[in-house]
Amino acid sequence: MSDPVPARPTVVVIGGGYAGVNAAKALDDVADVVLVEPKEAFVHNVASLRALADPSWLQRIYLPYDSLLAHGRVINERAAKAEAGLVTLAYGEEIAADYIVLATGSAYPFPAKSDVDGTDAAHAKVRAAHAALSAAQRVLLVGAGPVGIELAGEIKAAWPGKHVTLLDVADDVLGARFRQDLKDELRRQLTGLGVELLLASPLREAPPTEPGELQAFTVVTESGTEVAADIWFRCYGIAPVSDYLAGDLAAARQADGFVEVTPFLQVTGQDRVFAVGDVSTADHKMAGIAGRQAQLVAGNIRALISGDGDLTSYQSSPPVIIVPIGPDGGSGQLPGSDDLATPERVAQAKGRDMMVGRFTELLGVTAPAEDASDSRR
Ligand SMILES: Cc1cc2nc3c(=O)[nH]c(=O)nc-3n(C[C@H](O)[C@H](O)[C@H](O)COP(=O)(O)OP(=O)(O)OC[C@H]3O[C@@H](n4cnc5c(N)ncnc54)[C@H](O)[C@@H]3O)c2cc1C
Repeated sequence: MSDPVPARPTVVVIGGGYAGVNAAKALDDVADVVLVEPKEAFVHNVASLRALADPSWLQRIYLPYDSLLAHGRVINERAAKAEAGLVTLAYGEEIAADYIVLATGSAYPFPAKSDVDGTDAAHAKVRAAHAALSAAQRVLLVGAGPVGIELAGEIKAAWPGKHVTLLDVADDVLGARFRQDLKDELRRQLTGLGVELLLASPLREAPPTEPGELQAFTVVTESGTEVAADIWFRCYGIAPVSDYLAGDLAAARQADGFVEVTPFLQVTGQDRVFAVGDVSTADHKMAGIAGRQAQLVAGNIRALISGDGDLTSYQSSPPVIIVPIGPDGGSGQLPGSDDLATPERVAQAKGRDMMVGRFTELLGVTAPAEDASDSRR
């Protein structure tokens, strides 16, 4: 008779975004993985701005979880509470966990990220915003970081005739940690497309309408410049999602909501609870980084399960970014290169296929055909 199969430990992964799907998949063969996620489908939000400009992309960026795990299961529900060893779902079920991976990421204003759990309802919200944007002649984007720049590029590619104003309190685009020549290049491409840049321009007060609402308004900057627009979008404001942490785990939650981790990406003070991706303090907030952290944590959990080998510590990434400006433009800063990424390199890396292939493969989904019912550019 063969030896009895040892019980597999239970790993509860909370959050099925970029970090969570990577961690869950990488542990599926050694543990009973339970992925807890309220959204009906994985949302590839890296391409969400393209889907706003061209909703035919929606089918390609909401990817069902059905084929992600061969052994484990996905529970379509929100975690209401997580403490060491125990996760409580919103409808009250408790799941005992040998290991927990916190991967609840961050919220960001629509349309960059979605706050709607059902896929049909999320698509309907994007289509409504697309219709409003289509009808607007003048668009105000508040926030000239990567999201504002990318959205300006998407709008200009879809509707070259619209007037787009990109406004920020900072005196340059993109944010402090990137190269000056990259910011110069992005400004050059944006102004070449006719995007009006209003930098170092705090507003006296926020626009009077809701973001995404089609309704003419005028706002005034502190220096007295008037900006008239028919619609606006908020392109700033990342907020980590960690309000469900309880007991000892709540102690690792910083005042700003990010979760403190050790060099092995364990939640501070914990051996068997890890935090990865946007919710953790470990590194910058990027999908690629979230995936890399998830792989490292999966390796560390495997080492703890088997009792073999040391834990691996996480090394943070050098500044790296790819900023598309429409499908064929943009620039970027890549490690190991003194040169900026050319528009062609940016188009290859992101702008053309928006990295969809990488995630359909990870989720085990055959890329769905474009939805011919959607309006096109
Ligand atoms: C417009 C845009 C473009 C971007 N482009 C790039 C890019 O080109 N390259 C790049 O590397 N990064 C890019 N990013 C950043 C990237 O999207 C984030 O870094 C990434 O989403 C982080 O992944 P995550 O898994 O940590 O979190 P998220 O993607 O935020 O996923 C978290 C998941 O947790 C779930 N969740 C939340 N609360 C609970 C709960 N209580 N219980 C259970 N589940 C919960 C959420 O529903 C969500 O599915 C972009 C971001 C935006 C907004």
